[in-house]
Amino acid sequence: MDSKANTSSPKTAASESASRSAKPPRAASPFRIGHGYDIHKLQSGGKLMLGGIEVAQGISPEAHSDGDVVLHALVDALLGALQMGDIGELFPNTDARWKNAESRVFVLEAVKRMQSRGYAVVNADVTILVERPKLKAFKPAMAKSVAEMIGGEINIKAGTNEGCDAIGRGEAIAADVVVLLGAVVESSKGKS
Ligand SMILES: [Zn+2]
Repeated sequence: MDSKANTSSPKTAASESASRSAKPPRAASPFRIGHGYDIHKLQSGGKLMLGGIEVAQGISPEAHSDGDVVLHALVDALLGALQMGDIGELFPNTDARWKNAESRVFVLEAVKRMQSRGYAVVNADVTILVERPKLKAFKPAMAKSVAEMIGGEINIKAGTNEGCDAIGRGEAIAADVVVLLGAVVESSKGKS
């Protein structure tokens, strides 16, 4: 057994080293993960939109669009999962078409690209950081709103920054989103 193994070993070793020097192997996965982050300065006046719903008046993000940090981070997470760059590349703020645009428009465009690539959202985990207003009461409505735009299961977390930095001083609002996409299979296509 040993001698047999030895006679075949030079060839095996050679092919192993050849594959090691080649590109890293490509993993076959039906899943793609993406992460997005967004932060905006806050100003007095206007309204605060989060996840496509209005959560407060008299305070608003400084922004070219409606400044919805949840939806902006969500678009970046979707584009990241699809290897399609970022929100600034897709919707440049120098383009008049996007001036004061509802962020929902950006999300729906990203969803369209996701669907054309054959993916659907498995779940998204959203973290919002803001000193005020308190968001607990708005979480279910935000999750519902986001789920209607992108599908999948949506979790919304909200916190303050414990008094640290610009967010903790109430000068800014930020959001982090992690999203998991799954390849759409024929049987579930038929069901939907
Ligand atoms: Zn933004």
